[in-house]
Amino acid sequence: MKNYYQKEIETAPYEEIVKIQNEKLKKQVRRVYDNVAYYRDLMDKKGVKPEDIQTIDDIKKLPFLTKDDLREAYPYGLLGTDLKNCVRIQSTSGTTGKRVVAFYTQHDIDLWEECCARAIVAAGGTNEDVVQVCYGYGLFTGGPGLNGGSHKVGCLTLPMSSGNTERQIQFMMDLNATILCCTPSYAAYIGESLAERGYKPEDNKLKAGIFGAEPWTEEMRRSIEKSLGIKAYDIYGLTETSGPGVAFECEEQNGMHINEDHFYAEIIDPNTGEVLPEGSRGELVFTSLDKEGFPLLRYRTKDICVLTRKKCSCGRTHIKMSKPMGRSDDMMIIRGVNVFPSQIETVLLKEGYSPNYQIVVDRARNNDTFDVYIELNPDQVSDVVSDIQARERSLEAAMRSMLGIGPKIHLVPPKSITRSEGKAVRVIDKRNLHD
Ligand code: ADP
Ligand code: ZN
Repeated sequence: MKNYYQKEIETAPYEEIVKIQNEKLKKQVRRVYDNVAYYRDLMDKKGVKPEDIQTIDDIKKLPFLTKDDLREAYPYGLLGTDLKNCVRIQSTSGTTGKRVVAFYTQHDIDLWEECCARAIVAAGGTNEDVVQVCYGYGLFTGGPGLNGGSHKVGCLTLPMSSGNTERQIQFMMDLNATILCCTPSYAAYIGESLAERGYKPEDNKLKAGIFGAEPWTEEMRRSIEKSLGIKAYDIYGLTETSGPGVAFECEEQNGMHINEDHFYAEIIDPNTGEVLPEGSRGELVFTSLDKEGFPLLRYRTKDICVLTRKKCSCGRTHIKMSKPMGRSDDMMIIRGVNVFPSQIETVLLKEGYSPNYQIVVDRARNNDTFDVYIELNPDQVSDVVSDIQARERSLEAAMRSMLGIGPKIHLVPPKSITRSEGKAVRVIDKRNLHD
């Protein structure tokens, strides 16, 4: 039997979803126009009034919001209700600049946790599971979101937070954790640490992992699944829309269902702002249809992906987003060529290397330098210099054919690249230091 957390809405016919979206959007635009001066100004400037928004298709008439707007309006400028109605603040990780803060009413917390509960059930979770949450707790949304979702499902929850890998392993083994929640890079590290301590994948009781908060490739998924002996599910979200659980993977493990009764998604051309048809690659834009504290309309995420509404074998009807290949601001332009870290990860894992790597971009004599440091797996270590050099040359060629430009490859000893307990730092771009 298939399991859902909220079957009726998760499997609702498309027409039903559109009906819900129409109603919620109308109400939300009115609320935001009346309560949020910042957004009212944007609408007035564009010449749009709340009564112009009658159906979800009218959403195209609304102005976009960007992270710059959030920074400008910091801290209270986009608050959607009286502060006394809010019960929580969370904040972004600040991956790409100054942090932004988001406000939640109890209603917002409930809907967020329900979205996370849907993700846990989709990964096979029931009230018999022991869920180990090693996303960070605190201002970061990862820990609190999955923690709340796990409670809703009735799982026994281990609120570990990130770090202290020794203790993570001890609790995982002693308390028979069955579902692991953390960033994919930390999951890979836990897998590696278990192996180092002599544990085989079948020695733990884990059956599934719910991993997100940073881009990861299919190759990384397979590598984590093998090292932990689990099925690894992707989960997506951002603080601006609530946190993890905006979208989650089902048993098909092929794209994430967006909880579109709460979040309406569009794909736009990042250069022109034009809305693109289903199936096109572009920038993901979200509208919170029923959040009260921080009700963002048409928020540009900078995440690049594709939306598709194909029938899914899991029975869920909500639209799916592909794994974001990275943010538009993760993209490096090196010697004029667009490069995403995820492309490099794909090559590495395909060629049998570890997912422990770091990209360093710099400038020397007005030319970009592009170096990739990759750890050797213990079984790849060799004393023969020419062996290592041959490996480096072959990786360089594989990278060149994927990217169109060849980085300088440096194979380094096992364990020499710092492990991340939260979001991994893959790129060090030193070019701005010279400007
Ligand atoms: P910050 O923008 O400071 O990192 P958040 O902690 O809110 O703030 O992170 C949200 C961002 O994390 C998303 O916009 C996206 O770029 C990235 N992200 C979250 N989940 C995933 C995922 N499953 N795959 C790829 N990227 C993800
Ligand atoms: Zn599905």
